[in-house]
Amino acid sequence: MSISQAIETVEANYAHQPEFIQAVKEVAISIKPLYDAHPEYETLKVFERLVEPDRIFNFRVNWENDKGEVQVNRGWRVQFNNALGPYKGGLRFHPTVTESVLKFLGFEQIFKNALTGLPIGGGKGGSDFDPKGKSESEIRRFCYAFMRELHHYISKDMDVPAGDIGVGGREVSYMYAMYKNLTRESTGVITGKGVGFGGSLMRTEATGYGAVYFLENMLAAQDEDIKGKTVLVSGAGNVSLHAAEKCIALGAKVITVSDSRGTLHDTSGFTQEKIDWLKAQKAQNKPLVDYVDKFGGEWLDGKKPWQFKADIAIPSATQNEINEDEAKQLVNNGVKYVVEGANMPLTAEAIDHVREHRVHYAPGKAANAGGVAVSALEMSQNSVRQYNTFEQVDQQLKNIMKDIHDGAAGASEEYGQTDNGYIDYMAGANMVGFKRVADALLAYGILN
Ligand code: NDP
Repeated sequence: MSISQAIETVEANYAHQPEFIQAVKEVAISIKPLYDAHPEYETLKVFERLVEPDRIFNFRVNWENDKGEVQVNRGWRVQFNNALGPYKGGLRFHPTVTESVLKFLGFEQIFKNALTGLPIGGGKGGSDFDPKGKSESEIRRFCYAFMRELHHYISKDMDVPAGDIGVGGREVSYMYAMYKNLTRESTGVITGKGVGFGGSLMRTEATGYGAVYFLENMLAAQDEDIKGKTVLVSGAGNVSLHAAEKCIALGAKVITVSDSRGTLHDTSGFTQEKIDWLKAQKAQNKPLVDYVDKFGGEWLDGKKPWQFKADIAIPSATQNEINEDEAKQLVNNGVKYVVEGANMPLTAEAIDHVREHRVHYAPGKAANAGGVAVSALEMSQNSVRQYNTFEQVDQQLKNIMKDIHDGAAGASEEYGQTDNGYIDYMAGANMVGFKRVADALLAYGILN
């Protein structure tokens, strides 16, 4: 079966899962040169096997709200592929979570994790639970109830979840507490734990910082520097605010952040003091608009950040947050680099548009792999029961991001996708990630 036949099968079987189909097509198109060069992949139906998860657990989560009313949510864990190591990927709590969203994220995660060069397979999970407007004790009860179900399907050498949208250090701690309570094991079964009870230093910062380290490598490949560049960041969560923080530390000017309510624009640029204030504000679930009274700038209700002139965009909120029209805005506003902090923030048409205009484009599976890489380092530290310093982890992260960059750039060159200095990071990253997983599948025969 050829790749195009495999896509047709996915479209026929999962017509109701648009995000998953979108993610599969992106990988399929860009690995074609590699697939053509290795007929054994087709003979052993490697792509066809990879688009079908090993298994998906779907469970009900019963919990009680503050009024004593019974609430029912849906929960999932997608164990997509463990060719390279234990299933690894975050948990998302958001009302938009569906099986399609988790399958797209799990599929992407297989190749992202392969790109890190660390022994981790791909998985993802979550719930349609909406943390917004919930009290502290409701969040705690939900996390306990979620783990009461999930613990049946995970363990430290088999499947190791982490955080994602709506799941940060607080939620990870509650879930870890329930896992320990049920199993009496203190193991690295979930990452993103608090430092002091199994967490790694730098895990919180890793995704945002890692994306900026990737960007630095992209800029260096074009003989450019981040210093003095203007940057648009979307989101005001874990990835966004740490990406903004690192850009500022390296001398760039970040002029936007955003959330689901709108965009904050500060022409004078955010400073570390302002970022610290934004972190505290979001941690208390307070609105970004309060910033204007304190620091100035403007609040654009219901708007996204793509209307401003800049050199670099780091979309770090959610999937499909930049459509074709917004990609046109970016190009017209002079943006030369798009680095995906979020997973799949550009629609397929938006990706085509920026690439056609030779905007240097780093796909999420390469650019935001720093988070899962440090999660894998947390797993190693848990196994040996010793901890590394912030500086050690930071250096490991820098090395990993450079390796991912150089691997993707190298594959782009090797398979004839680099055009007059323009590196096709999407093709390169997909081919490197795919090859690592595909070669493991070939080695295993047909048992994976
Ligand atoms: P957070 O929950 O910390 O922050 C998400 C931010 O995006 C919030 O500001 C949120 O706004 C905004 N947002 C979420 N959904 C929407 C939406 N539909 N429209 C507009 N804004 C939205 O999540 P993370 O920072 O952890 O994750 C962000 C992205 O990065 C996701 O795509 C995630 O999969 C990806 N990622 C995260 C990693 C990590 O280590 N955390 C690792 C790799 C990828 P509001 O506050 O109003 O809800």
